[in-house]
Amino acid sequence: MTTMYQVISPEKPVGILKGVGPKVAEKLQSIGIETVNDVVFHIPNNYENLSVMNLNEAENNDKVTVAGTVKTEPAIAFFRGGKNRLTVFMEIDGIYVKVIFFNQPYLKDKLIVGETVRLSGKFLKNKLEINGQRLIFETGGGFRVKYPMGKVMHSKTFNKIVAEVFNAFPFNYDLPEAVKSKYRLLSVREALRLIHFPENQHDVNEGRRTIKFYELFIFQLRLMEKRQKERVRNERYIIDYDINELKEFISTLPFDLTGDQKKCTNEICRDLKQNVSMHRLLQGDVGSGKTIVAGIAAYAVKTIGEQTAVMVPTEVLANQHYQSFIDTFGSLLKIAKLTGTTKRKEKAEIVQSLQAGEIDLIVGTHALIEDDVTFDKLSLIITDEQHRFGVNQRKRLNDKAHRKNVLYMTATPIPRTLSITTFGDMDISLIREMPKGRKPVETYWRRYEETEEVLASVADEVSRGHSAYIVAPLIEESETLDLKNVQEIFHMFLDYFGEDKVELVHGRMKPADKAEGMGRFERLEKPLLVSTTVIEVGINVPNATYMVIFNAERFGLSTLHQLRGRVGRSDKQSYCALISDPKTENAKQRIDIMTSTTDGFDLSEQDLEMRGPGDYFGVRQSGLPEFKVADLAEDYRILEHARMSAIELSGEMRKNT
Ligand code: ADP
Ligand code: MG
Repeated sequence: MTTMYQVISPEKPVGILKGVGPKVAEKLQSIGIETVNDVVFHIPNNYENLSVMNLNEAENNDKVTVAGTVKTEPAIAFFRGGKNRLTVFMEIDGIYVKVIFFNQPYLKDKLIVGETVRLSGKFLKNKLEINGQRLIFETGGGFRVKYPMGKVMHSKTFNKIVAEVFNAFPFNYDLPEAVKSKYRLLSVREALRLIHFPENQHDVNEGRRTIKFYELFIFQLRLMEKRQKERVRNERYIIDYDINELKEFISTLPFDLTGDQKKCTNEICRDLKQNVSMHRLLQGDVGSGKTIVAGIAAYAVKTIGEQTAVMVPTEVLANQHYQSFIDTFGSLLKIAKLTGTTKRKEKAEIVQSLQAGEIDLIVGTHALIEDDVTFDKLSLIITDEQHRFGVNQRKRLNDKAHRKNVLYMTATPIPRTLSITTFGDMDISLIREMPKGRKPVETYWRRYEETEEVLASVADEVSRGHSAYIVAPLIEESETLDLKNVQEIFHMFLDYFGEDKVELVHGRMKPADKAEGMGRFERLEKPLLVSTTVIEVGINVPNATYMVIFNAERFGLSTLHQLRGRVGRSDKQSYCALISDPKTENAKQRIDIMTSTTDGFDLSEQDLEMRGPGDYFGVRQSGLPEFKVADLAEDYRILEHARMSAIELSGEMRKNT
């Protein structure tokens, strides 16, 4: 992109500004302000309105600045520890109000009966009370800005430095004219000026709207640039499979593809045929049928005699993927598995077959990225739950490619705002539609005292030959406590159902024991599995129709959703009981959301609203940008508009997102 839209201009050091000597420059540097540009993008985090308003127009809890007459002598009450409270009655705009100041006893002398004073504070309309913040002695009105300055300098002083920038510099960057007029935006310079020198709240809002747009616009341009780089055009990326052969193959699958599966398959296969390196995200909720889509792509690659690797984050997931690939494609593709527990001798054999081109599809964990694992012609790389791998790990596998075509899969439904920011450099294929016959999981909230009732419903399902998962509380602070809880619940189920029905699996068991227990549950030898969240990923028992989650309030929405996704994997009606006595409003809200929808994308949007984008995946997303003014959870509309404008500007229309 042209440098015209770079945020980093002007790059001049703050020292060139009048009034900024080496000492001041050093202070500014200590809070990250080094350039003239950093100065104007150091955004106020608060405003104080010194203009007096009419109290009759204020709402409950509003922050107000008012003028009134002192009606009573101030009274001070002292408490333990030197704390104190000053109370005075005032008449403000015809309203008789009780004004309270905490810990400012010296104001007593300033509050003289019959005199008029200005003050700011929080108006508790219902109680006709003002929780006073300060008395205003300054003359004049207006809007004062407050900056996040640490203890470095006074906001007023910094505001003068900002003024100096506006006096001394023309801005050499802005939004394109067409974009400004279309969305009624200000110039970047004017918007920043309003943010730093507003006369009222309206100025602030207008300024911020433009800067939000600007930030998101620049960000989208960068992503687009990155995307262009990923979509390298080169004849060698073409996977020239025979379409008829592929169609015939699809017709042998045990079921018809859903509309979304077809659409995604087409998008992926079109990428393969094209002379660009594929860089695509396949997004679909648990059970939406991504494996089949991935398998079809792998088959297309096999028809030209080349190979596919599927990298997954855990051993359990590797086993499951391996099994489901074998189940559906076992007779048509040569499939192998390579994980950390693969024996050395077996690994040597697998690597040899890979090098000889005898294996079409390999499923594996991080073991696949080791240097001694090499391929004949690796031309499709599929990474499952890619956010659980580091950039380097992904790169190491990608570097082994003969033709670089990369498909990322995720069952984490990501809100659209986040996917166009986090994955804006990828093409996105989305499966929203569930396979036919799936019934949404009926979800209930039950209190602890109602556990007995849940046990009875589970027994009902078991009597019909169905299986059930029971997830025990996860208490991070104490692993021993964790263990105790899962054990207690295990015994509760043992008492109720008897030994031959209940299996226990938890995170601190030996992997072999864990696998054995899991195996007995998967082979339907035991219908009940009590576990900690180790089952969160990767287990697939379509026979399971009941999910019980104890202490449901301890889990985030995305985890609850993942857990619930373990049931409802067949045409049988499934159930989920969330057992919880939520203590906070937030926890209660999460449980309410879970009982009201089973759509992962819907949930993810609500989750984003509740938590903000910062820790969307439970860990801070490394790729997530930080904006000065824009907020991804709030500024969804602006993001869409900025994105459209960026696309128009770069002259590149995307057809498929
Ligand atoms: P995901 O990987 O997206 O979680 P899977 O690919 O494992 O989902 O599919 C879940 C289950 O649904 C599997 O048992 C699979 O065989 C089945 N399935 C997938 N696509 C269809 C379809 N179009 N019709 C019926 N069943 C399907
Ligand atoms: Mg290609």
